[in-house]
Amino acid sequence: MTGSASSSDPVTAAVQHAYARYGRQARSWLDGYAQRGGQVYCGAGCTACCTMPIRVSLAEARIMAATLDAELARAVEAHARAAVANARTAPDEEEYVRRHRLQVGFCPILDRSTGGCSRYDARPTRCRDTFSALPARYCAAETWETIGPREQAEYQRAVARTPGTDGELHFIAPLEHLSEPVWTAASRAMRRAWGLEVWGDFWLLTTLAADERFMAAVQAGDGRRAWQVASGRGLSHRMLLEFAPAPR
Ligand code: SF4
Repeated sequence: MTGSASSSDPVTAAVQHAYARYGRQARSWLDGYAQRGGQVYCGAGCTACCTMPIRVSLAEARIMAATLDAELARAVEAHARAAVANARTAPDEEEYVRRHRLQVGFCPILDRSTGGCSRYDARPTRCRDTFSALPARYCAAETWETIGPREQAEYQRAVARTPGTDGELHFIAPLEHLSEPVWTAASRAMRRAWGLEVWGDFWLLTTLAADERFMAAVQAGDGRRAWQVASGRGLSHRMLLEFAPAPR
């Protein structure tokens, strides 16, 4: 695979290190949560959250890109192109997310026969830190829109009395906070190695992470050139591909 991460890449090494630290901390937090009677509804075979849009750093995308074979890389690129088409036509962010979940659909890295992530060890931060404190139907696309006011009120009461949530959504908030050092590690490692940060859509960046010309431009700190390469492939959109500092 061209242009993807090697084991000596300091950018991906920094993120792998942060993933491992987060994994240890999350396990320890979950043990204490279970001892206090807390319940987590996520488990093998549950796929409800694998339709969500995912924002990642290019550092995380390089880790995933290094694990893909040609067939899965093609499926990831097709998903990225569907995300770009959605971003170009959606009237606002809410509609973008709705269409992403219902029309762009399941992440192609999901193994639909088992309901498991086929690249579990390389999954990005968002997939590591999303845990549900209520049954999975509340994670599924459009559940909220299709339940009536009575069930919406019951959901809000359930969230409010469930420990571990932020009181508004059913996801376990401390596990999201614990992952913040992974974002920081990615940010620092990209700045140090490349002089710029690249963030955006998971599938788009995973595709670009394996593009030699895109990575050469990034590694030269040339965000403008990297944007041109992405545009030339039809894989650019300001919502899905961000550089910091922004190219002039
Ligand atoms: S990378 Fe894995 S866990 Fe994350 S959305 Fe895709 S299939 Fe689901």
